[in-house]
Amino acid sequence: MIPFNKPYLTGKELQYIGEAVQSGKISGNGHFTKKCQHFFEEKYHFRRCLLTTSCTDALEMAAILCDIQVGDEVIIPSYTFVSTANAFVLRGAKIVFADSSVENPNIDADKLKDLITPKTKAIVVVHYAGIACDMDKIIAIAEANKLFVIEDAAQAVDSFYKGRPLGSIGHLSAFSFHETKNIISGEGGMLFINDERFEKRAEIIWEKGTNRSAFWRGEVDKYNWVDIGSSFLPSEIVAAYLYAQLENLDKIQSKRKQIWERYYQSFEVLEQENKLKLPFVPTYATNNAHMFYILTKSVEQRDKLIAFLKVNNIYAVFHYISLHSSPFYKEKAGDISLPISDNYSDCLVRLPLFYELQENEQHQIIDKVLEFFK
Ligand SMILES: *Cc1c(COP(=O)(O)O)cnc(C)c1O
Repeated sequence: MIPFNKPYLTGKELQYIGEAVQSGKISGNGHFTKKCQHFFEEKYHFRRCLLTTSCTDALEMAAILCDIQVGDEVIIPSYTFVSTANAFVLRGAKIVFADSSVENPNIDADKLKDLITPKTKAIVVVHYAGIACDMDKIIAIAEANKLFVIEDAAQAVDSFYKGRPLGSIGHLSAFSFHETKNIISGEGGMLFINDERFEKRAEIIWEKGTNRSAFWRGEVDKYNWVDIGSSFLPSEIVAAYLYAQLENLDKIQSKRKQIWERYYQSFEVLEQENKLKLPFVPTYATNNAHMFYILTKSVEQRDKLIAFLKVNNIYAVFHYISLHSSPFYKEKAGDISLPISDNYSDCLVRLPLFYELQENEQHQIIDKVLEFFK
C-alpha cells in the first residue's frame, strides 16, 4: 500500500535529541528552542516568534492576545481544520463562517464586507495548501474596520505572498509542525508576533502567565504570576527534533515541489479535457508543495476515485467537512449555506505527497488516476 503520508527523518533528529537529553535541560525555552526561533527570524526576517506545542496552541495564544471576549465575532473560513475555530470559541467568541473562493479553497475576500458587524473583532485567514490568501484585500478591509488579522499559516511554511513570507503579514500568525506538514516535530507549532504591541504579553502567556522569560534575562528580580497563560512551550526534545528538520528545509521543499510538479504536469491533460480541476495558484502567491489535490465533479465521483485507488493499493483522502455543517456548530447556529465550501468538502481529493515517495510509486498513482478518468 502506498501510504498517504510518511514522516521523514532527515538524519540528525536522534543525535540532536541525544544532545538535548545529555545537556541536562529538557524543559522548554532552551538551546534548541532558541535555535528554531532564530532560524525563522534570520531566514525570513520574522520580527519575533515563539515555539509552541502545536499550531492549535499558537492560535489559542493569538485569541488571548487579541483579547477576544464573550460575544465578540470572529470571521473564519468554514473550509478549514477545527482548530482555526476552536481557539476562538474557547474564549467565548461567536464564529462567523465565510465561504471559500471559487478559484481555490481560500477565504473569499470579496465576501468579507457583508459579514462584518460592530461586534467583529478579528478575521482569521487560512492559507490552504500553503497558497496565499488575497492579503492586500483582506488587510484593507481589516484596517478600514479596525480588526485584527490572524493567519492560520499551519500549512504555509516557506511560502510567500508578493514576496512576503506567509506568517509575517497578519498581526499574529501560526505554523504547524504536525507530522502531516512539510516540516515536522510530531506535534509542534510556532506563533509569530508581527505587531510589537503583543510581544511582551505573548512571552508571559507562553510561560503560564508568569514573567519567567524576563526573569531569565535579568530584567526582573523575581518571577511572578502576572497574567493568564498556559503551558504553551514544548520540551527541548521536540525542539531538537524540529531543528534537524529545519536544517534540511531547502532540500525537503525542493523534493516536494518536484513531486507536486510531476502530478500537475501529468494531469494537465485531464483538466484541458474538463474532466477534473487542478490546484490554482494566483500570480501573487507561491506554491510550497504542502499538498497536491484534485477536484472531482461530484461527491459520488470522489468516493469512487478514492475506492478505486484503494483497491490499487493507493491511499488517497478527502478532508474538511465544512465546519458550518458540523454537529457542534449546527446545534448552536442552525443551518447556513456556504455552497463553495461544501463543494470542496464534496469534491477535493488529496494524493500521497511525502519526501520519500518514490518515482515509480508516483507513476503508479498517476497511471491509476489517468485510468480512472479515461
Ligand atoms: C494542521 C492544521 C492545524 C493544526 O495544527 P496542529 O499543529 O496539529 O495543532 C490548524 N489549522 C490548519 C489549517 C491545519 O492544516
